[in-house]
Amino acid sequence: KSIDQYTQIEAAEAAQKLRQTLAKYSEAYYTKDAPVVEDYVYDDLYHDLEQLEAAFPDIVTHDSPTQKVGDQVLPGFKKVIHAIPMLSMGDVFSEAELATFDNRLQKNIGQPIEYNVELKIDGLAIDLIYEKGRFVRGATRGNGTIGEDITQNLKTIKAIPQKLTKPVSIEVRGECYMPKAAFAALNTKREAQGQPPFANPRNAAAGSLRQLDAQVAADRNLSAFMYTIVTFDDVQVTTQHEALEVLAELGFNVNPTAEVCQDMMAVQAFIARYQAMRDALEYGIDGVVLKVNDLALQRQLGNTVKVPRWEIAYKFPPEEAATIVRDIEWTI
Ligand code: NAD
Repeated sequence: KSIDQYTQIEAAEAAQKLRQTLAKYSEAYYTKDAPVVEDYVYDDLYHDLEQLEAAFPDIVTHDSPTQKVGDQVLPGFKKVIHAIPMLSMGDVFSEAELATFDNRLQKNIGQPIEYNVELKIDGLAIDLIYEKGRFVRGATRGNGTIGEDITQNLKTIKAIPQKLTKPVSIEVRGECYMPKAAFAALNTKREAQGQPPFANPRNAAAGSLRQLDAQVAADRNLSAFMYTIVTFDDVQVTTQHEALEVLAELGFNVNPTAEVCQDMMAVQAFIARYQAMRDALEYGIDGVVLKVNDLALQRQLGNTVKVPRWEIAYKFPPEEAATIVRDIEWTI
C-alpha cells in the first residue's frame, strides 16, 4: 500500500512500528557501538518514517528519531553541555535529490550558491576546547546538547594537538576515526583473543573512545580530522574553506581534499572522483558533505530541530560486501 492510501490511524500505527524498530537499532549502534543491521537498512526505514511524517504531520511525536540527534550518554562519564548544540546532518542518496537541495537553497537565498565540498569521514563527531592555545576539554556529541567528557582518551591521540601554534581560545569540531589498517589489525587481534570483532571502523572508533580506561584509546591508533570552528577569540573567518585553512595553521589535522565548487557540475565531478578512490583511501568515507561556503549565509539559513539547513550529505551506495549481504537476505 502506498502512503497516499493510508488513513491517519494506519499512518500513526505504521510510524510507531518504525520508531520502535529504529529505536532498537539505534540502541545497538549508539549505546553499545555494535550495530545489528547495516546502515542502509536503518537509512531505508528512517526515510520511510520521514515520508510518513511528511504526509501526516499530526503523527509526529517529539521523541521520533526524525526530531532528535541519536546518541545517548553512557553512565560513568562526566557530562558536558554543548552551549552550541552538535546537530545531525540531512542526507540524500541521488544526484536528483542533491539538485533539489541546491534549488531550494538558491530559491531561499536568491542567488547561485558556492559550496565547500568535503569528504564525509566515517567516524564519530568530537568537540575540542582550547584555552590560550592549550587543550582543556574534549567531548562526544551525545544527544547533541549533552555529551560525554572524553578528554583523557582524546589526549592519547597524536593527531589532536595538546598545544596550538598560537595562544588562542577556540572551540572546534571534527571527526575521530580509526584508520583502515588499524581497524584490520585490531579485529585480527580481537579474534585471536576470542573477542567479537567490531562491525566497522566507525563503531571501533566509538567503542575505543567511550571507554573509562584511557589506555584502551591509547592502544587503538585513532586519528582525527577537524573541520568546524565553533567559537574563536581571534581572527574573523568568513568562509568554511578559510576555516579549514585556519585550523591547519593552528596545528590541527585537516583533511586536504576539500574543494570550493561553484556549481553542481563541479560537485558531481568531486563525488565521482572520490567514489572511485574510496577503497584506496586509508580512512573510511561514507559520502561527501556539501556546505554553504559563506558563513554569513549559513547563519541566515539556520537549522531545523535536527539538522543545519546549509549542509547536506550525499551518501555513497553501500559497499560491495554490504550489497552482497542484501542480495543474500532477499533470496533467503
Ligand atoms: P551521520 O553520521 O550520517 O552524519 C552526521 C555526522 O557526519 C556528523 O555528526 C559528523 O560526525 C560527521 N561528519 C563526517 N565528516 C564530516 C564533515 N566533513 N563535515 C561535517 N560532518 C562530518 O548522522 P548521524 O545523525 O550521526 O547518524 C545517522 C547515521 O547513523 C545514519 O547514516 C545511519 O545509517 C547510522 N545509524 C546506523 C544504525 C545501524 O543500526 N546500522 C543505527 C543508527 C544510526
